[in-house]
Amino acid sequence: MKVLIDNGHGENTKGKCSPDGRLKEWAYSREIADMVVYGLRKKGIDAERIVKEDTDVPLSERCKRANEIYRETGKKAILVSIHCNAAGSGESWMNARGWSVFVSNNASTNSKKLAESFAKIAGEKGVNIRKPMPGQLYWEQNLAMCRDTNCPSVLTENFFQDNKDDVEYLLSTEGKQTVAKIHIEGIIKYLGL
Ligand SMILES: [Zn+2]
Repeated sequence: MKVLIDNGHGENTKGKCSPDGRLKEWAYSREIADMVVYGLRKKGIDAERIVKEDTDVPLSERCKRANEIYRETGKKAILVSIHCNAAGSGESWMNARGWSVFVSNNASTNSKKLAESFAKIAGEKGVNIRKPMPGQLYWEQNLAMCRDTNCPSVLTENFFQDNKDDVEYLLSTEGKQTVAKIHIEGIIKYLGL
């Protein structure tokens, strides 16, 4: 099984940072992506970032890369797209906070299973999980990265980059390690290892 890690946005993407500019989503998601790939490889799991560039690679190209690898591996790949959430335009601090995981509206059973594995690990770590309704651990949305990829795929929104407390947590060593571990352990749980 090959784990494909997608990191959102690029250094040339407008906005997508904390109001004080300390957290930039493109850089943060790449840092976490590297931690996740490193952590998975240490456990003997084949993992790879599909966007090695620092620039913003279009969604269609990222989906194409994922679908090519899925085909080449004989349908033995899963995909996780790493992001930080935002409630506003990035101009000012907002109140919304917490961690959440998404699948597309056309999600397969395995995509939902992958999302549930992530949320369960997040729950075990005492993380504040945002749910669409009580008992529902993941959100369903029209997301290109999940909709247009053929493999099981989820997108994580790792706390809010425009919530002051969330940003402090995201930038802390503890926060980074927890976010990375949710991905590493969530994938291991999904794979049944
Ligand atoms: Zn994003």
